[in-house]
Amino acid sequence: MRIGIDLGGTKIEAIAIADDGSERERRRIPAPRDDYAATLDAVVNLVRDVETSCGERGTVGIGIPGTISPATGLVKNANSTWLNGQPLADDLPRRLDRPVRFANDANCFALSEATDGAAHGASIVFGVIIGTGTGGGIVVNGHVLTGANAIGGEWGHNPLPAPKDGERPGPLCYCGRTGCIETFLSGPGLLRDYLRLRPSGYGGGTEAREEITAEAVARKAAEGDAVATAAIERYADRLARALGTVVNVLDPDVVVLGGGLSNIEVLYEMVPALWTPYIFSDRVDTRLVRARHGDSSGVRGAAWLWPTAPPSLAL
Ligand SMILES: [Zn+2]
Repeated sequence: MRIGIDLGGTKIEAIAIADDGSERERRRIPAPRDDYAATLDAVVNLVRDVETSCGERGTVGIGIPGTISPATGLVKNANSTWLNGQPLADDLPRRLDRPVRFANDANCFALSEATDGAAHGASIVFGVIIGTGTGGGIVVNGHVLTGANAIGGEWGHNPLPAPKDGERPGPLCYCGRTGCIETFLSGPGLLRDYLRLRPSGYGGGTEAREEITAEAVARKAAEGDAVATAAIERYADRLARALGTVVNVLDPDVVVLGGGLSNIEVLYEMVPALWTPYIFSDRVDTRLVRARHGDSSGVRGAAWLWPTAPPSLAL
């Protein structure tokens, strides 16, 4: 049995899957924010509860925001900032009395889709999460490509390629740079682009502005709203440029999209029609597909961090 934990900023989710990938158990609790010791306790208790319920001991893989620094062994780059600098990779194996594998949550997403999701059977997979932020992960022949700095697949904080007038220097990003891919391709990025061009008075004042979501922009575009349609067209063109450079470097068989914006159906036609000029090839056979496991891919991928079937272990 494999247990996966998705250590999110607002919730911690646990899943137990059987060898065939079928779900045996799932639990979700609110994340103890700003409290590392309570986070450790919560993960240990979740694993114990799942194992008691299943009557079996399992392997444990954990998806985290950020990553374990190869240089220090401590958590880095987590937007759940109370984890940064903490010895999670020492504490949890000791508390759980077994080896524990860790990976960035976007890497877990890519691993889930490569193992038994939308990219099943593909050799090279680039997984992209487009939602509140943007994340990326690379899986090659079933293994996460972690990298020397443990930032393999980090994609969102590169500059948007081939910037056009109006895209330079680009919006300021929380990482300190300007014009990052994330500032254009996250949900807030799409929303800002739409609101910038919306005629004044259209939809009302600030209160109405806050109610509009990136998903609503996509819906308005589907209904024929001209400003929303233009925003979606710009979004698709930017995504085509941002993925085109990835195809040139990595040449994945499949690019899988997850996160809230991956539900924008037109992207799967528009982006492959737009990315060819940015890709150095006579033809492009790369497939762009939507995640099969949706929001569950992070926690499922954490479980698949142990790819070989573990023996069944009694409690
Ligand atoms: Zn950035």
